[in-house]
Amino acid sequence: MNYHLTTILCVTLLACGVQTETKQKVIDNDKEVVCFVYHRFGDNRYPSTNIALETFKAHLQFLKENGFQVLTLSAAIDYLSTNGPKQKTAVITIDDGYTSFYKNGLPILTKYSFPATLFINTETVGGGDYMDWKDINSAIKLGIEIGNHTHSHAYFLNLPETNRYEAFEQEITKSQQLINENTGLTPQVFAYPYGEWDVKMKSIVKKLGFKGAAAQNSGVIDQGTDMMQIPRFPMAESFGDIKNFSSKAKMKALRVVSQSPNSPQFTDDIGTPTLKLTFDGTGLLLNQLQCFIQGSECKTEVKEMENGIVQLTLSPSISINNRRRTLYTITVPDKNGQWHWYSHLWVNAVVK
Ligand SMILES: [Zn+2]
Repeated sequence: MNYHLTTILCVTLLACGVQTETKQKVIDNDKEVVCFVYHRFGDNRYPSTNIALETFKAHLQFLKENGFQVLTLSAAIDYLSTNGPKQKTAVITIDDGYTSFYKNGLPILTKYSFPATLFINTETVGGGDYMDWKDINSAIKLGIEIGNHTHSHAYFLNLPETNRYEAFEQEITKSQQLINENTGLTPQVFAYPYGEWDVKMKSIVKKLGFKGAAAQNSGVIDQGTDMMQIPRFPMAESFGDIKNFSSKAKMKALRVVSQSPNSPQFTDDIGTPTLKLTFDGTGLLLNQLQCFIQGSECKTEVKEMENGIVQLTLSPSISINNRRRTLYTITVPDKNGQWHWYSHLWVNAVVK
């Protein structure tokens, strides 16, 4: 599939240069990458962030049997940005650097000779439940890429804007320095703590030279994805069984070419935030489009434009302002029976 969606969009909608931040990218081909995020391994004390070792093995076995190439996040970004051959591609990311990854998860990855990207928050390295620098250096030797996850893993959106950005930048820089001092490496990728960011935080990550930043909304990465807000499918005990994992591994991207607003923040006074998406609907069965909003029904309005472009408006039927984080998720099948996925994370930082 070779086309120039930005041109199509500009001609069709005369929508270029709209006031809200939008993402409009050229999509040259249909390379895609599915990225997963894990936290703890074989640690039953925390079921919401833990994966059982047998389940993790089954995930890796599925990737092996189905011919996936498994890359670090940096390598996957390079793969997407070049014109080499297309291959089924998956990325395993691990957040926070818990000891259970080193003790339980890493030996399984090594058995499959799969690399992964480990995002560490440097303040806790070597303390309590966390890997120390010796563990981290051993993991690097086994093919693990180290990413920056800030120093303190704070809720940065809870800070007033007057010092949020300064604190955020200082923490990332401090973390880069510590990782460099202790491993000799300079991380190329970043992950937002709790998947929370705002537009200015995103621009700081970009300014600091990272090639990608992982968020926590679910979805598939394609060449139109903003690499400063990379979607990842979370995997944990309650929803990480092999059936769910394999369906996510086979998921396709919804080719969103613009989104408004393109920021997770919403405020208490607008409890039913509206999300507008413009995407390439070629080959999609739009009458089977599904929308899910945590804690609410989802109201959708689908408008088919010329050239297969679709405008979709989503809003909840009731206020979502009592939750800190709410996902709007869209799935739609295509004529070949494959499902396409997109989600947007809203954060109401007033809710602690
Ligand atoms: Zn984290």
